[in-house]
Amino acid sequence: MRKTICLLPGDGIGPEILAQGAACLKAVAAKYGHEFIFVDALIGGAALDATGQPLPQATIDSCLGADAIYLGAVGGPKWDAAAPESRPERGILGIRKALGLFANLRPARLWPELAGACLLRADIAAKGLDLVVVRELTGDIYYGEPRGLESRNGLRTGYNTMLYNEEEIRRIAKIAFETAMGRSKKVCSVDKSNVLETSRLWKEVVNETAMLYPGIELSHMYVDNAAMQLVRDPSQFDVLLTGNIFGDILSDEATVITGSLGMLPSASLGKANPGLFEPIHGSAPDIAGTDQANPLATILSGAMLLRLGLGMPEEAQCIENAVRETLAAGYRTPDIMEKGKVATGCKGMGQEVLKRI
Ligand code: NAD
Repeated sequence: MRKTICLLPGDGIGPEILAQGAACLKAVAAKYGHEFIFVDALIGGAALDATGQPLPQATIDSCLGADAIYLGAVGGPKWDAAAPESRPERGILGIRKALGLFANLRPARLWPELAGACLLRADIAAKGLDLVVVRELTGDIYYGEPRGLESRNGLRTGYNTMLYNEEEIRRIAKIAFETAMGRSKKVCSVDKSNVLETSRLWKEVVNETAMLYPGIELSHMYVDNAAMQLVRDPSQFDVLLTGNIFGDILSDEATVITGSLGMLPSASLGKANPGLFEPIHGSAPDIAGTDQANPLATILSGAMLLRLGLGMPEEAQCIENAVRETLAAGYRTPDIMEKGKVATGCKGMGQEVLKRI
């Protein structure tokens, strides 16, 4: 198959890790007889320096013309003093909006080879952790109107509006159910329906949508309980379906307990536009240019790009197997280093995965 992939390296370690990820995609294309055309575009601080904007129109056009978008990371101290509208991070929010990316998928997986890095007690970690948070990304209290700051009765008062309509809930629920179909067919929907009207509608529409997926086992959990259960026994979860604000918090919690920020990929999907695939970590300015960054989160985001963005599950599995074998062979970047393992850097780790593809 012939596919176009837009590469957005960004800032800090972004270009280093994305180079390794793109090399893996090239190797997969060669192995399976595909032709991947890579188009580079600017985003974040790199775009600000070159064009004065964190998301130039040319980048949006390149993304819209591609079959999938592969991003490194943006941001860094160089641009910390920039005005809010021209901070590098605006580039990411802008591209999500421009492409209508309403679903964010974050797998959190405890690789058996990295069990030592897990922040949970050994007996809890031993039960396993392999879940996906499916988070709605373009609605909820972050976008609802009215919002504002004003004086009420002489007191400074801030307010936001938690808001979802049934269509927004239905489309993200479908993504969660479809994700679960390819896994162990269990979805837990998170809400606060004991207090919030928005959550009552959420639960109702999720239940209605579930009728279309009779093979799925659906459960519901209040968000406060979900936060607790994630550290008490994460092995009970497969797909966690959440709104924007609950998912923002729970997806960070679910992924960070694996202990390896440099291992965690993500995907953001829209209705028709290409999806965007990126590691969950930032641009790590403290280690940029030192070849210490772990490229595996980016390489695994490449696997998500193949599976969800280009419909190539076998090719995705090939990358995931190569990562697994590289870890089993003992290779470790500094962030996941343990005694007795083989120290390597960003390029070295990329090379080891390539060899196994
Ligand atoms: P960060 O994720 O960049 O770094 C946090 C810590 O984790 C650092 O010590 C870093 O060295 C380490 N780390 C991160 N990725 C790593 C990897 N692949 N391998 C090894 N170690 C890794 O978060 P931060 O320091 O809070 O933010 C730095 C910049 O990144 C900021 O400008 C922030 O706005 C931006 N940021 C961007 C994104 C994105 O592009 N999606 C996400 C989060 C933060």
